[in-house]
Amino acid sequence: MRFLPIFLDLQTGPVLLVGSGELVRAKLRLLLTAGARVRWYAIDGDHEVSGIDPAAAARIEFARGDAAAADLSDVIAVLCAGAGEMGVALSARAKAVGLPVNVMDDLAHSTFIFPAIVDRGDVVVAVGTGGTSPVVARRVRERIEAMLPARIGDLASFIGRWRKTIHARIPEFALRRRFWERVVDGPIGAAVLAGRGDDAETALNNISDASAFAGATSTGGVEGRVTLVGAGPGDPDLLTVKALRALQDADVVFYDELVSPEILDRARRDAARVPVGRRVGKPGIGQEAVNHLLIEAARSGQRAVRLKGGDPFVFGRGGEEVAALREAGVSYSVIPGITAALGAAAESEVPLTFRHEALRVTFLTAHKARDAADVDWSALTDLEMTVVVYMGMTAAPAIRAGLLSAGRSPKTPVGVFSRVTRPDSKAAVGVLEDLPTLVQQIDGGPAILIIGDVVAHSAPWRASGLAQAIPNLLMAAE
Ligand code: SAH
Repeated sequence: MRFLPIFLDLQTGPVLLVGSGELVRAKLRLLLTAGARVRWYAIDGDHEVSGIDPAAAARIEFARGDAAAADLSDVIAVLCAGAGEMGVALSARAKAVGLPVNVMDDLAHSTFIFPAIVDRGDVVVAVGTGGTSPVVARRVRERIEAMLPARIGDLASFIGRWRKTIHARIPEFALRRRFWERVVDGPIGAAVLAGRGDDAETALNNISDASAFAGATSTGGVEGRVTLVGAGPGDPDLLTVKALRALQDADVVFYDELVSPEILDRARRDAARVPVGRRVGKPGIGQEAVNHLLIEAARSGQRAVRLKGGDPFVFGRGGEEVAALREAGVSYSVIPGITAALGAAAESEVPLTFRHEALRVTFLTAHKARDAADVDWSALTDLEMTVVVYMGMTAAPAIRAGLLSAGRSPKTPVGVFSRVTRPDSKAAVGVLEDLPTLVQQIDGGPAILIIGDVVAHSAPWRASGLAQAIPNLLMAAE
């Protein structure tokens, strides 16, 4: 992010506008819509304003003379048509006195740029691309336009009118926020969005106990809670809608080392972010301590999100956390995520089940060779079973040995999939007897093993031309 979006109050002084032509007129209209007074130097002397509302046009000061020498003393921003000496000269003068300046289509001489704008009254969305691509900005704007309720601006002004009153009735910040969330998400908000503003006014007026409406506890505090959220394997677009909502509502996020920064970025801006997982070379704070943090956060009225890679209930110790929360009497809920196996399967096109070919799937973990020794491999020799191993990189030689000694064919297709769904994901495919070599081809990152004939359907397998090398392989049985 090179440009910080901020909203400029244009009521405090005139904007200096220099130039003529359609582009300049468009900016003139925009400035006037935003309530600005505009001091306009039309370079070609053509101060044409037809099509502009006369009341707005009254805020234009038609300036004449040398624009480069314009008086900047009361000006709040400078806007100049590009290409030419004028923009360069004005940019230098504006910068010298600390005024924001935009030279159209000239990033080098601008200190601010115009975003694409969604304008719904009090609700304004600014979309920027750092000046790189107005076309992309416009596409994003179109999507937002389509997504936003038409009367979202009415909802904002409705709340704006009631703000002071409610502030006086609920002095406590967290509780007041809950109050407004319930208004926005409940029937009152729905009434405003449906154009029934009067009904909404009446309903809000009829709330006799604002704190109770906000969900205050008997002691007047707010009730906190913990949401266990599955963050998926890495790609932020694989978060569920519910996960995104929980992240947007969070006061604090306790996250694991597997959670990518892009996903953490989706949390509410002012939510506290607390790493609690193991990180390379450093032990985590321990499960007990994590449980304790979650319970404390909820007890202090916070909405805590426990963000975990993949799914919280697949090798994520979510079960233990839920048990601790239950025991402590803290409210909680669980939002599933896409587990690494499913991310790998979709990304590399490994159908985990396949008609007549793979009828079962087993997820297991083998963190250390010692864990692998504990696995009953004889239960995993079934040809119609796909075996997925989490945390199995170090134990790969032991996994190979276990499966081979139990009788699974050395030619069984296997795949190692690392950092799945991330931009730097990697896959190595081959056969079971070569598993340790395949693991070595993957240079770190979380990785998952998939073992079974279905791996031969995968994209990396097809790309490798391995199929020909294994004549007895079961391909597309039907
Ligand atoms: N709850 C997580 C699993 C946590 S255990 C889930 O449902 O996915 C950690 C193991 O998950 C890693 O050792 C690795 O085997 C696997 N894993 C997690 N994210 C992964 C990713 N992006 N790519 C490959 N494997 C991943």
